[in-house]
Amino acid sequence: MYKVVIGLEVHSELKTETKCFCSCENKFGGEPNTRCCPVCTAMPGALPVLNKKAVEYAIKAGLSVGCRINEYSVFERKNYFYPDLAKAYQISQLEYPLCVGGHVDIEVDGKKKTIRLDRIHLEEDAGKLIHSPNGTMVDYNRAGVPLIEIVSMPDIESAEEAVLYLQKLRATLLYLGVSDCKMQEGSLRCDVNLSLHKEGEPFGTRTEMKNLNSFRAVYRAIKYEAKRQEEELEAGREIVQETRRWDDNAGKSYSMRSKEDAQDYRYFPDPDIVPIIVRKDYIEKIQKDLPKLAYQRAEEYVKNLGLTEQDALLLTNEKYVSDYFDQVIKEFNEPKFVCNWILGEVFKKLNTLDNEEIEILISPKNMAKLLKLYHAQTIGQNVARKLLDELWGTDDDPEIIVKEKGLAQNNDAKGLEEIIKNIMQNNQKAVEELKNGNQKTMAFFVGQAMKATSGKANPKLVNEIVQKLIK
Ligand SMILES: [Zn+2]
Repeated sequence: MYKVVIGLEVHSELKTETKCFCSCENKFGGEPNTRCCPVCTAMPGALPVLNKKAVEYAIKAGLSVGCRINEYSVFERKNYFYPDLAKAYQISQLEYPLCVGGHVDIEVDGKKKTIRLDRIHLEEDAGKLIHSPNGTMVDYNRAGVPLIEIVSMPDIESAEEAVLYLQKLRATLLYLGVSDCKMQEGSLRCDVNLSLHKEGEPFGTRTEMKNLNSFRAVYRAIKYEAKRQEEELEAGREIVQETRRWDDNAGKSYSMRSKEDAQDYRYFPDPDIVPIIVRKDYIEKIQKDLPKLAYQRAEEYVKNLGLTEQDALLLTNEKYVSDYFDQVIKEFNEPKFVCNWILGEVFKKLNTLDNEEIEILISPKNMAKLLKLYHAQTIGQNVARKLLDELWGTDDDPEIIVKEKGLAQNNDAKGLEEIIKNIMQNNQKAVEELKNGNQKTMAFFVGQAMKATSGKANPKLVNEIVQKLIK
């Protein structure tokens, strides 16, 4: 039996206003080469100036995962030639990264497992190659966008653990507000280093798979590569240290380049950028102002709002859901009721949407109004569900719609009793069956009462009245 050893390198673009070393706008997309300047396209004589916000964001990320922040860190040039890299070097950090150590804790089979971090350093992104039938073009809009690279120790032992680690990391960065972590736009990317070895033996030769851009791709690539290496070893062959390309459509990885032509990046300190000195009080201030992370919000939901631990975890998985919940209960302070509705009906709705456009498209204020109507039984569950669909993507006021469309539930016990008496008189056989304990007949009476009231009868009330009448 082989043990799998995995280390992950996660690249996360920082959500600063401007790029890392120039004042170009830092934003995804746009007409190619409209968000660049002499600095990020490496015109002769152009000089980089470090974006302070990028340093602050990197420190925030580091502190939230328990890194030690280096008060002295240095930018280096990582030299390699590629058309998307105009300077023929990337500004990065090697010897003196901004953040060192730290850890991310995950829960595996109900037990806490610590994944140690090696470092988090700050660097710049490269441009993008656009391949077309007429040739390959370069877009430098992304060149110079600030990135943090989060390097884990080889503490991950399965594809499942890798995904848990990435989910935790992504949630942390989102709660901090330092990255939007949109994997489909490449603002969170992952390199996987993987090797196999037998218990008690030293680590085996590792391979690297670069730029995986979905959790699913990471999961499948790890499963595939672990199996491939096992088959190689079982067949008595040696693992070649190499970079492999994962093809998500084919579900296979291919050899890209081996160690023989592995590059020597000839790192050296960038003479255009002075070392960064971060003062202790600056670090302390960032530490003090760190926002609450997912687990801290979940703890508060349990402690202060009386939610179950499981519900609290589900609500805080995604920051936008937790933010939304907080806003709704500000308007309508029934946490448990609001939580059930969000985890049930709203999640059902979100599940029907495309991954890229997941967003809750009803203002918290209108959602609170809708839930108040439902909670007070002014509208029934079915109408509440229909209203959710109807209000989605609009700014309509649920109170006005309920009034205008006459959707209010019929809670008039006296009137309903008359209607039900009438139904019973015409359906003596069903009455007998119900008296004999056939509860299925109840659905028949509720259905008839609904029919007689154009669907507006309060089903709970109908149920109570029928029970009362057959006694
Ligand atoms: Zn620029």
